[in-house]
Amino acid sequence: MTPTADLPDTPQPRSGPLAIAPYVGGKASVGGVNRVVKLSSNENPYGASPAATDAFRAAGDTLALYPDGGAAALREAIGEAEGLDPARIVCGAGSDEILSLLCLAYAGPGDTVMHSAHGFLMYRLSALAAGAEPISIPETDLTADIDAMIAAADARTKIVFLANPNNPTGTMIPERDIRRLRHGLPPHTLLVLDAAYAEYVEDPDYDAGARLVAEREDTVMTRTFSKIHGLAALRLGWAYGPAPVIDVLNRVRGPFNVSAPALAAGTQAIADDAFIARARDGNARERARVAEVLEEMGFPVVPSHGNFVLAHFGEDGPRAAAEADAFLQKRGVLIRRMEGYGLPAYLRISIGTPEENGLLLAALRDFVA
Ligand SMILES: *Cc1c(COP(=O)(O)O)cnc(C)c1O
Repeated sequence: MTPTADLPDTPQPRSGPLAIAPYVGGKASVGGVNRVVKLSSNENPYGASPAATDAFRAAGDTLALYPDGGAAALREAIGEAEGLDPARIVCGAGSDEILSLLCLAYAGPGDTVMHSAHGFLMYRLSALAAGAEPISIPETDLTADIDAMIAAADARTKIVFLANPNNPTGTMIPERDIRRLRHGLPPHTLLVLDAAYAEYVEDPDYDAGARLVAEREDTVMTRTFSKIHGLAALRLGWAYGPAPVIDVLNRVRGPFNVSAPALAAGTQAIADDAFIARARDGNARERARVAEVLEEMGFPVVPSHGNFVLAHFGEDGPRAAAEADAFLQKRGVLIRRMEGYGLPAYLRISIGTPEENGLLLAALRDFVA
């Protein structure tokens, strides 16, 4: 073909991807420090289920073979553990992959994807990657405003993402309000309930979303193995949804999107009730302690239902938070700055083991002094 004046002379992406500011994960290392306490990525400080780790190692003997593209054994195990129909489950390379596939399949140029103002950043990035326009809805008290979301939904709204509990705020929406949201949204809008921290919630008014999904054709729940199951390195997540949505996800995903070691480890992890209970109880105990000591030190904490707390650094918050972060880093304690979420006066601190939390609190005490 002969070059034409009105064609660009290099390949050009669609405009959406160029609007993305790449996701910056939590810091993992710091120079000149012997021991690093990593409380920056909401990982499980107790590691993973020993049965899952053994299954991962055993999978090393068959690396030449493709994984089961249908993830049958893992879907069976999830169905068994959660009381769900395995036919309505699809697995992904992290729940991030599922969030992004939902955007690609249900939203594109001309469409909008709604999230709450301090909702998980991946919603915005996945919407932009798909060519859709992300719409951010202001929150009340760092909690998603259900009525504002309903009022903002219109003909262009293809997806509403809601993390429940939300990261990074830790706030939770009770089941009755999730139902009110669903009933207030138009039927053409897919509601995605991202329950990455579901296993940590102890409030009886909470439901991760499975009950609502089972009743409807327009609602999906996503879950992850990265948090309470301690398998973040393997990239494993899943969605439970109505048959038509699961069918679409199975069409757009890669045929072997989940690796064999991830399938093997996940199948063990989901069934290890003792490990899950230990991680949940340890988190609840330590979250209460960390929150209490932070408050005593003058850093109010947003009531959290996850494995992290969001602490406010006072009137001079943005500067104090930055200084605290730098001080902690020198001591090898890594936590998460929040400017990317529009919360510069806050730091997000993942809950570690009792020992790790002790080191964090001791370092913060020195910072205050
Ligand atoms: C950590 C997290 C996820 C999980 O992502 P993976 O891709 O499964 O590791 C999803 N949503 C929220 C809100 C999270 O905090």
